[in-house]
Amino acid sequence: MPSEFDIIARHFVRPTPQAVLGPGDDCALLAPSPGMELSITTDMLVEGTHFLPGTDAWQLGWKTLAVSLSDLAAMGATPRWVLLAGSLPTADEAWIAAFADGLFACAGRYAVDLVGGDTTRGPLNLCLTALGEVPAGTALRRAGAQAGDEIWVSGRPGRAALGLAHLEGRLRLPETLSGECVAALQKPFPRVELGVRLREMKLASAAIDVSDGLLADLAHIAERSRLRAEVFEPQLPPLPAGVDSGFARHCQLAGGDDYELVFSAPPGKHEEIAGLASALELPLTHIGRIVHGEPEVRLLDETGGVRVLASRGFDHFA
Ligand code: ADP
Ligand code: MG
Repeated sequence: MPSEFDIIARHFVRPTPQAVLGPGDDCALLAPSPGMELSITTDMLVEGTHFLPGTDAWQLGWKTLAVSLSDLAAMGATPRWVLLAGSLPTADEAWIAAFADGLFACAGRYAVDLVGGDTTRGPLNLCLTALGEVPAGTALRRAGAQAGDEIWVSGRPGRAALGLAHLEGRLRLPETLSGECVAALQKPFPRVELGVRLREMKLASAAIDVSDGLLADLAHIAERSRLRAEVFEPQLPPLPAGVDSGFARHCQLAGGDDYELVFSAPPGKHEEIAGLASALELPLTHIGRIVHGEPEVRLLDETGGVRVLASRGFDHFA
């Protein structure tokens, strides 16, 4: 059996050009750039709660990192360093190697260094801490929305929830769609470039990433900004063909795990945001507006009537 230290050295220690000191000592040493604030976030992924037992190790490695980078993206921060605390049931080297490859593939894509962590035995549970940098005072926050702002969402939210329903056998997706939806679930691409550009170009007044569901996460912007968010159903991104539209709509509005960004922006920025969508080759859809009123989200149909939904998103304790 490999020791804890063999596992760390073999699988988790790779060059860390962005750190003063990487894994191997009691702490990593990092030198934040002058004038920058650190943005720090941590996320736990528990087998059976956040991912299905038996999930492919490479994809789990990718996703463990991707979900935390999504939080940095939502603040407009540039990811720099990450720490990984993992508890593993066995020292299955093939599994660990595949997990590490997935994690480092994501780390390479987003240019972050794994600078430390902790490795223990126990039920499969992965905790990732990510650190990013953002020029002081410029981070995108949930609380910045203004009455009159437009609401935008990136990508095609709902795909990940459709992929999960397909994997769990609750739904049969046509083959043309299943690959894309399962990939959205297992290998999400955090919208780091979008977050950074929204901040640099001073386009967004508030932002959040969609981890629990579009309406549930948008509600956090409404609450923190003390304003109402109205979403116009006819303006939502197109639903995929070949799947029940009611269920697809439910996934789009309340499905978790998409890691898209939802943000508010003044109407005067509309053209610049449309241009950014072309530059990033990422759909950005204007789906609603921020108005005065109770801090909540309202979904409006084509006649302007309020639509009531059974569920708005995922809550671990609901
Ligand atoms: P300590 O007992 O001082 O906390 P550990 O024995 O837990 O140190 O870890 C030894 C070194 O290996 C530390 O620098 C730690 O950051 C690093 N490390 C442990 N697990 C991981 C991991 N999964 N990925 C990257 N680095 C790790
Ligand atoms: Mg330790």
